Amino acid sequence: MRLITLFALAASVAAAQPVSRPLHPLIQQAVGEISERRISATIHKLASFGSRNSNGVVAGEDKGVAAAGRWIHSELASYGGKLQVRYQPFPVKKGGRFVRDTEIVNVLAVLPGTTQPDVFILVGAHYDSLHIKSKPGAGAAGWDMEATAAAEDAPGAADNASGVACVMELARVLANRPLEKTVVFIAFSGEEQGLVGAGGYAQQAREKKERIEAVLNVDTIGTDVTGSGIAAGPRVNVYSGDPMDSPSRSLARLVHDVAGRYLPGFAANPVFRSDRFGRGGDHTPFHQAGFAAVRFTTPTEQLENQHNGLDTPDRVSMPYTTNVTRAVGAALMHLALAPKPPVVGVLGRGASRYDADLRWKQDAPEADLAGYSVLVRSTTAPFWEREIFVGNTDRTTLKNVLIDEVVLGVRAIDKDGLESLASAWAIRERGR
Ligand SMILES: [Zn+2]
Repeated sequence: MRLITLFALAASVAAAQPVSRPLHPLIQQAVGEISERRISATIHKLASFGSRNSNGVVAGEDKGVAAAGRWIHSELASYGGKLQVRYQPFPVKKGGRFVRDTEIVNVLAVLPGTTQPDVFILVGAHYDSLHIKSKPGAGAAGWDMEATAAAEDAPGAADNASGVACVMELARVLANRPLEKTVVFIAFSGEEQGLVGAGGYAQQAREKKERIEAVLNVDTIGTDVTGSGIAAGPRVNVYSGDPMDSPSRSLARLVHDVAGRYLPGFAANPVFRSDRFGRGGDHTPFHQAGFAAVRFTTPTEQLENQHNGLDTPDRVSMPYTTNVTRAVGAALMHLALAPKPPVVGVLGRGASRYDADLRWKQDAPEADLAGYSVLVRSTTAPFWEREIFVGNTDRTTLKNVLIDEVVLGVRAIDKDGLESLASAWAIRERGR
């Protein structure tokens, strides 16, 4: 009897307030300007540097990782608009995968936000590449470090010129567009040496208490068929770390929703894992530092062509890479235009002791804020199941909702209908 009553009440809540999701014209327009020709040109150019191994052993005017970094910098600067382009160097010592003391250099293009300049949305891809040379008995990984650093053919077209081409194309398309939050376009280095450039960025951001709302890491989006002939279909995987209501998981859900809205027929497919089996990427240090961070990767990597001389532009699907760029771009722009997520404060059972009483806070609410939605799902459901718009308030009570069996969340909605990331209230387990 109790169960039936609860179900009936929950169903009536679901019907109360349908939430419409209009498409934002700026996002539609900018997604339409993303150019496959430019993406292809960038991948070909990056593959032409011989090797982008971040040891920097392969050197020369137009070869090696430093030359690639200089080219990325000059390209980003040539897009004009409001982009502020700079290098972000980190010194590293010989050891591990470094055969000498050197410097890891990220290349950044910052697009200052119009109304929320202190809130950052990051989109990044590593531009370093790798050609593993092994030798028997050379440690756990079997790498010959010196030979690996000196290999002159590490074209890295899929891993990860494809991701860099995505990030650079988005910088070009957005250079002159007004986005409310600050967007940072990043070409990371030192990924193949242990996520050095991204780790340095995440550590600095944490020390400086930067308000990074979301990190979109784009890594290996160049192929839509495996070496064994399995096709990806129209989808890209979006990896996010645990737990189930981590900020990263919340970001993955939003990315899935937004990409589906702007690219019907192409899915941003959430994978509820931090990364592929036994592997990591540049989103990992951000996730570990508590920021919301996800990774975009094709489900169909060509593993036999990875980290060697065979990762060449002719093996890349430019149409597929362009579609992933559109999905990343739609999510990026949405995040940069939408309100900040609120902070869920207190959850209780209300005065009746049989309701869900939810409160939240929003510091410096946006001028175009319309109000808040409360979100509900069962503890076993991957996505939010119900959304109830409750207006511009900081508290609501859901009658006869048993807080023990659901996850509750809140998000802000602006007057264009753009929704913020969801902040979930996960009940803390006690007394185990
Ligand atoms: Zn990679």
